[in-house]
Amino acid sequence: MIDTDVTVIGGGPAGLTAAIAAARCGAKTILIEHMDRIGRKLLSTGNGKCNYTNAVQGVSCYRGENPAFVLPVMEQFGMEDTVRFFEELGIYPRVRRGYYYPASGQAASVLDVLRMECDYQNVEVYTSCVLSSIEKRAHGIEISTNKGAFSTKSLIFAPGLLAAPKTGSDGSAFPYIEALGHHFVDIVPALVQLQGKQAFFKELAGIRAEMALELYIENVQFHLKENKAEVSFAAGYECACSERGELQLTEYGISGIPVFQVSRYATRALHEKRGVYAKIDFLPDLTEDALFALLLERFYVNAHGKDAAQALIGLFPKKLIDVLLKEAGIALHIPAEQVKKPGLWKLVRTVKQFRVDVVGSKGMDAAQVCAGGVDTGEVDAGTLESKLTAGIYFAGEILDIDGTCGGYNLQWAWSSGYVAGIHAAGKGKQEKA
Ligand SMILES: Cc1cc2nc3c(=O)[nH]c(=O)nc-3n(C[C@H](O)[C@H](O)[C@H](O)COP(=O)(O)OP(=O)(O)OC[C@H]3O[C@@H](n4cnc5c(N)ncnc54)[C@H](O)[C@@H]3O)c2cc1C
Repeated sequence: MIDTDVTVIGGGPAGLTAAIAAARCGAKTILIEHMDRIGRKLLSTGNGKCNYTNAVQGVSCYRGENPAFVLPVMEQFGMEDTVRFFEELGIYPRVRRGYYYPASGQAASVLDVLRMECDYQNVEVYTSCVLSSIEKRAHGIEISTNKGAFSTKSLIFAPGLLAAPKTGSDGSAFPYIEALGHHFVDIVPALVQLQGKQAFFKELAGIRAEMALELYIENVQFHLKENKAEVSFAAGYECACSERGELQLTEYGISGIPVFQVSRYATRALHEKRGVYAKIDFLPDLTEDALFALLLERFYVNAHGKDAAQALIGLFPKKLIDVLLKEAGIALHIPAEQVKKPGLWKLVRTVKQFRVDVVGSKGMDAAQVCAGGVDTGEVDAGTLESKLTAGIYFAGEILDIDGTCGGYNLQWAWSSGYVAGIHAAGKGKQEKA
């Protein structure tokens, strides 16, 4: 049995930061990683360039049942601390519109400096190390693995959730967390592409342009138990959130940053068996009246012998023109002047309120993060220690906090990792005393 002060489970961004923080406080620290190498997911972040934080911070950048849970953590180790931490490790930042990347342009550099600092701080890293039991004893916590048994004073869980499971975050640590009495908020993919129901997506694949997006979610107001079956009454749809930016239309549905940003609400609602649809505005800079005036000009004043499809060339990509006209019920090759004004109004509404019925997402394999995770109500926001079992801590995505796109998920991993690390090492408690 090897005795340690702090054991970290998971060698991702949160676990590596936690191990460094604990070791810097003088704690004998080990890190257990079940993959053959640490930091696999980190290597794929930001398309291999690693968007590791963002200049704009605030509680609205984080989501979960209680987003304010991040505040005491960020106060102890926030964005500026993160930038300084990485500068000291050797990461010179390159900042684009507030988004931080390593100047090397390589996520691998971020992993390299973390690995080197773990070595320097004498963190013992056990890779291909598979857990077989975790037992809370009077004197500490005993951990059995295929690489031997460990007795530790504090244990930090940083195993991620279920996004991109091939990188190692496969849920294998969940049973140990549940055995310690913790509960999970249901886990759904977030920052993920959404699947549409309509057949037109095959024709639209490949289109990308600046668009606005609104997500509507079925508002289920009543639940009745009838003959033991649960019956829900839909009370209409409400706009849950909206985004604007470059949207991509694909053969399965919609993608791009605005879709990623709203996706966690869609996947959560679908998980709860609620209906979801999105409205796309293909010309967000024009009001409906302004677009109608523009169409009057193109269809009547400057038609110059064009048909309906030709009258829209220059306004939309060609593939989109065909779908828009079909959805508005206008024949593609009818002379433009013959389209009546009610038809043009229908076209205006099709362009500005293009409906996509959302039926699913591209799932965990494609998701960058998950929503859900360990219920933050069971964890002390000041220390990240379990309120249920002393000596157990949590860091990173495993907690019910997910960030928006833009470096916020890694920021959460660094901040929660550092805070869990210092408190698990006992430093936080000493400082308070
Ligand atoms: C393609 C992609 C791009 C991304 N780009 C960005 C970006 O640019 N900016 C950003 O902020 N976020 C980005 N993210 C999200 C970010 O990578 C995650 O939020 C972050 O990695 C979470 O860190 P973590 O340490 O909590 O979990 P993970 O990175 O998932 O690490 C968990 C570690 O624990 C190990 N583990 C799991 N179970 C066990 C077990 N039972 N025993 C031992 N070890 C275990 C895993 O193998 C893994 O190494 C991206 C994600 C993906 C998939």
